[in-house]
Amino acid sequence: MTVLRILNDKGRKVVTVAPKVTIDSVDKTQSETRIGAVVVVEKGEIRGIVSERDIVIALAKHGGAALEKLAEECMTTKVVTCEPADSINVVMQRMTAGRFRHLPVVEDGKLAGIVSIGDVVKRRIEDVEKEAEQIREYIATA
Ligand code: AMP
Repeated sequence: MTVLRILNDKGRKVVTVAPKVTIDSVDKTQSETRIGAVVVVEKGEIRGIVSERDIVIALAKHGGAALEKLAEECMTTKVVTCEPADSINVVMQRMTAGRFRHLPVVEDGKLAGIVSIGDVVKRRIEDVEKEAEQIREYIATA
């Protein structure tokens, strides 16, 4: 199973924001779209990522004033990405090593989708169920 297969299944839409939007706006975007992270993009380039955790950290640090902070003040700037040809195992390794749940997909230097831990777990369970079914069939017909 590759990232490409996940994208073909779920689509390539990525919710992005500009660096200067407020955390209040990021929060509303995440709530309306029911997603846990937005990619910060400027001039077609990935500048960072803001996830729910960044907003929680900003709130703990600044209280209500966190909502007036800008995405660029709260985002993680060293964004780890993957490519469509990467396997699910590579994605799981990167998420585990980096302790995050979102991996933007880059193709030919451009943002081409995003994979969350939920996407990965869903496909992993489907794969395991398929394998178990094949083993059951094999045993039944052997
Ligand atoms: P998450 O588990 O995705 O909510 O993110 C936890 C922390 O990791 C937050 O500080 C995010 O900004 C950061 N983060 C999320 N995804 C990535 C990524 N692909 N590369 C680098 N940092 C990330």
